[in-house]
Parts: sequence; C-alpha cells; structure tokens
Amino acid sequence: MGTKGKSIVKLDVDKLIEMLNKAYADEWLAYYQYWIGAKVVKGAMRAEVEGELVEHANEELEHAEKLAERILQLGGTPLLKPEDWYKMTNCGYDAPENPDVKIILQQNIKGEQCAIEVYNKLLEFIGNNDPITYHLICEILEDEVEHEDDLENIMEDIESMIK
Ligand code: FE
Ligand code: FE
Ligand code: MG
Repeated sequence: MGTKGKSIVKLDVDKLIEMLNKAYADEWLAYYQYWIGAKVVKGAMRAEVEGELVEHANEELEHAEKLAERILQLGGTPLLKPEDWYKMTNCGYDAPENPDVKIILQQNIKGEQCAIEVYNKLLEFIGNNDPITYHLICEILEDEVEHEDDLENIMEDIESMIK
C-alpha cells in the first residue's frame, strides 16, 4: 500500500492482519460448507434451498477475496495453505453429514451467527482508526446479516409446511 494510505491506519497492524486472516479462514470454510451442503441437501423445498446455499457460497468466496486484497494492502500475507484454515478459524466447520434440509440450515445459521459476532468484534477493534478496513467489514457484515435472515426465513417456511 502507498505510504500515505498506510499512514492513516492508526492501530496495531499485525493484530489487525491476524484478525483479518482468521476471518479469511472462516470465509473459505463457510464457502465450502455452503457449496457441499448445496450438493447433498435433501428434503422440503430442496430446489429453493439449493439455490440459496449456492448463492451464499459465492458470496462467502467474494468475502474471502475482499479480505485477501485488504490483507495484502496492509502488507500482510493471506493464509497460503488450506490446513491453516482449520488452525486459524473462529467459527469452525460443520460437515453436512446429515443431508436433512433442516439440519443443514441449522448448521449454516449457526455459522452466520458466529460470523456476525466475529465481524462486529472486528468493527469494535477498528473503531475510528482505519476507515478503509472498517468500511469493508461493514459491507461483509451486511451480507452476513442478510444470510442469517434468509436462512431463518426458509426455516420458518419449512416448519409451517410440516405443521
Ligand atoms: Fe462471509
Ligand atoms: Fe454468510
Ligand atoms: Mg441470500
């Protein structure tokens, strides 16, 4: 990043890069959890759920992309090995071992709730000290809030069908 661009970042940059890399690990794991979940899911409203999971997978990948770009701008290195995703993750990985639609939705809702928590904490850490990263994290957080809401709405529809 340019010298002036760097000079406006007024916080512990190594700590920030570490937090961004942890979120980056979460995004890759979330991407795969959605991507493989969309393949295996079975049950009520399957086509609709599959479409939503694929859409979210793509958005998680965009988040990973944005985080990697910002880590590089800050002079850091995005995690280079998939094995580091497991070491660095905040939110973990929930394998869709049971293909039941409600269980897969529940696993992904839990993941979104964890992501919301992680990004909110990042915003608290950044405060007024790095407007560019702050803005980027706000954009990602906005998507995660939408993801949770989408999944909870589908869950509600499925539950009202089953009644
Ligand atoms: Fe995400
Ligand atoms: Fe998400
Ligand atoms: Mg959606």
